Amino acid sequence: MPRTLVTGAAGFLGSHLCEFLLNKGHEVIALDNLSTGTVNNITHLHGEQFTFVKHDVTEYIYCAGPLDYVLHFASPASPKDYLEMPIQTLKVGALGTHKALGIAKEKKATFLIASTSEVYGDPQKHPQKEDYWGHVNPVGPRGVYDEAKRFAEAITMAYHRSHGLDTRIVRIFNTYGPRMRASDGRAIPSFIPQALRNEPITVFGDGSQTRSFCYVDDLVEGFCRLLMSDYHEPVNLGNPREMTIGELAKAIIVATGSDSEIIYNPLPVDDPKVRQPDIALAKRILGWEPTVSLEQGLAKTVKWFRQQAETSPE
Ligand code: UDP
Repeated sequence: MPRTLVTGAAGFLGSHLCEFLLNKGHEVIALDNLSTGTVNNITHLHGEQFTFVKHDVTEYIYCAGPLDYVLHFASPASPKDYLEMPIQTLKVGALGTHKALGIAKEKKATFLIASTSEVYGDPQKHPQKEDYWGHVNPVGPRGVYDEAKRFAEAITMAYHRSHGLDTRIVRIFNTYGPRMRASDGRAIPSFIPQALRNEPITVFGDGSQTRSFCYVDDLVEGFCRLLMSDYHEPVNLGNPREMTIGELAKAIIVATGSDSEIIYNPLPVDDPKVRQPDIALAKRILGWEPTVSLEQGLAKTVKWFRQQAETSPE
């Protein structure tokens, strides 16, 4: 049975990843400092094959026994969260990645870093391919996340080249699904509760900026295919269906059957104008592409947010 350590395990992506690994027969050791994650995301996973340890991975990571995989998913991931926790975001991307690499090296485990489309910044090439070096403002407010992840990629490649560590780098584009925090400030977990309450939907700017949204189950399948490959360079994973944020707001009004109107608020600093993954590499080397349509994924996500509203109404 593979033994796998997951950092950021109580977060949105981390919890879905743990669930997937348990279903594949892994024993999972789950770390999280609960700064943005919650134990509510993982309580249903508790059992003999799953151990949760509350730990801040910027500190030394100790784990008894062998490990086959170290999957580093710890980090604030929404612009609101990383703007509220700029130093913690830099620390987990830099010091946390170093500690996670350290334990992977010690245990001779395969290491995977959750990187991001934010390494491309406000891109001047569209769609974004892995060989594009990006257009990041290092000293802007988003720089704390973008540069931390760029450093995380650099140190991962250095461990691969200098120590022969078996490494993977996944650049994750916008992803959505159940267990996103309604207060995390991102578009989908903001818009769905607004629509369910028939409150105005808060589009930033004029809504013409674009994103491409991937359902979480598709993404997690891609992680596991990448892990099973022997490819060490960065790989984009995301859904290439691109839309404007205005179109997304309208799709959510339809998916919820809401009476909400759309209102327009100021655009955050350095908000990327466009974003769309080129997934030719993932298709070629992993045989992977998303299978869940936006309509299907939104239906599942809306259902989850409705249940949340019923069980814990504000
Ligand atoms: N956005 C918005 N209203 C919100 C939250 C986000 O219009 O309440 C916009 C945001 O400015 C960006 C896009 O939606 O252009 C996606 O934002 P998100 O925070 O989900 O992720 P990002 O891709 O910017 O990291």
